[in-house]
Amino acid sequence: MRELFCDVAVIGAGTAGIAAHRAALDAGARAVLIEQGPGGTTCARVGCMPSKLLITAAEAAQEARAAHRLGIRVGEVQVDGPAMLARIRALRDRFVGSVLEGLDGLPQETRLHGRAVFEGPDCLRIDDHTRLRFKAAVLATGSSPSVPEPLQGLGHRVLTTDTVFEIEDLPASLAVLGAGPVGLELAQAMARLGVATSVFDPGDSLGGLSDPDLKRAAREIFSQSFDLHLGAKVESGAAGEEGAHLGWNGAGGQGDGTFDRVLAAAGRPPNVAGIGLEQTGVTLNDEGGPVHDLHSLACEGAPILIAGDANADRPVLHEASRQGRIAGRNAARLARGEAAARPERWVALAMVFSDPQIAVIGGGFDPEADYRIGRADFCDQGRAQVMDRAQGGIRLYAGDDGCLAAAELIGPEVEHLGHLLAYAVQDGLDVRRLRDRPFYHPTLEEGLATALSELADR
Ligand SMILES: Cc1cc2nc3c(=O)[nH]c(=O)nc-3n(C[C@H](O)[C@H](O)[C@H](O)COP(=O)(O)OP(=O)(O)OC[C@H]3O[C@@H](n4cnc5c(N)ncnc54)[C@H](O)[C@@H]3O)c2cc1C
Repeated sequence: MRELFCDVAVIGAGTAGIAAHRAALDAGARAVLIEQGPGGTTCARVGCMPSKLLITAAEAAQEARAAHRLGIRVGEVQVDGPAMLARIRALRDRFVGSVLEGLDGLPQETRLHGRAVFEGPDCLRIDDHTRLRFKAAVLATGSSPSVPEPLQGLGHRVLTTDTVFEIEDLPASLAVLGAGPVGLELAQAMARLGVATSVFDPGDSLGGLSDPDLKRAAREIFSQSFDLHLGAKVESGAAGEEGAHLGWNGAGGQGDGTFDRVLAAAGRPPNVAGIGLEQTGVTLNDEGGPVHDLHSLACEGAPILIAGDANADRPVLHEASRQGRIAGRNAARLARGEAAARPERWVALAMVFSDPQIAVIGGGFDPEADYRIGRADFCDQGRAQVMDRAQGGIRLYAGDDGCLAAAELIGPEVEHLGHLLAYAVQDGLDVRRLRDRPFYHPTLEEGLATALSELADR
């Protein structure tokens, strides 16, 4: 086994790891990036990008189907599953290719291939070929889809986000376990592509919403898209010739059914098990992950930083990228014997690319907080009606200081309003000052003006 030395070892060449590696190199550290798999990032290979490609195809089918409502006739809509899935894979390969190309430009000695496991607080073993000693390390190992116990004997019938984009044709029917952002996006897209889709979730929420009014609205809206079972836990699964037979139970009802395929979208635990963290001296939490500072990303007890999905804090792309940069810079500082910096955290921003879209800003509704609430509905909003997409609403939450603290939205194209609101919360903007800004007519932003007016009056 060869022995190598570096200042900063970065484990995982996903979005967080690549950003950390670059930041450490830029800070003058001798940094090494270690990847066990084919690379190319979860985002490009099996995450954000292929899922949005699927959603784009589904939206095209839906728009064609709904065009008659505007007096436009387009005839029968047919979905060519193999062609659509082939396009997804072709574009996905391009996105993955450009990530890999970016890494190809790095000096060979700054990259290692293999599974990294800690042997001590300053030492990693990579497969059986390399022992790498480091002064500081960045844990950027990401997360992986979990397959709930009842699905474990269902063989090829079970799909995860790692495999769903590899299927050659669309299934006739699909059960989706999990109504969070990933489950909701994929379930609605599949339903719009003609797959008989059922969604199961033991909770009462869709897409990460917590506001009671918006949760209700979401239930009504999405139960028109697919067969929705909230408050229903899948408790049994058996493989048969006809498909996967599932049984479910809970406050939302009891039942059973047979599905061509089952998509496990019930969570992505961080990849922190089995990598020797107990050898490093870091303090571990109840889930087996390292206790860490949310600003510096430094773990307690060893010169190790944790970034991206690996820390399970905010498993979204822009956070993985920023956290990677922070962790890389801080790893270089620790390697030089300096203290880690503690930058301000970004306001939490989460989105779901369903139709209507969902955006949750600043953690959204908090039942414990004494918020004033501003409301607006898209159902009677001018531009939303013009677009034939008058569904959903806005909820703004402000504290006693008159500043916007959080927001939740479900409605047409709220990805844009979501950004505006995130900037307003981040900058601590006063609700009255925000209300007294120009709002062009007729736009969806006028819905925001309505909610701000109500909030300012309160
Ligand atoms: C279907 C889906 C859709 C999504 N859509 C969105 C979206 O629209 N917007 C958004 O913001 N986010 C989205 N996300 C989330 C986003 O993709 C992730 O938050 C982000 O990719 C996480 O990046 P990361 O660097 O933390 O992990 P990853 O990109 O997963 O990188 C981790 C890397 O570490 C490697 N690794 C793990 N253990 C070891 C080890 N011991 N040794 C060496 N290498 C190791 C892995 O092989 C992997 O390459 C989506 C996710 C999914 C699954």
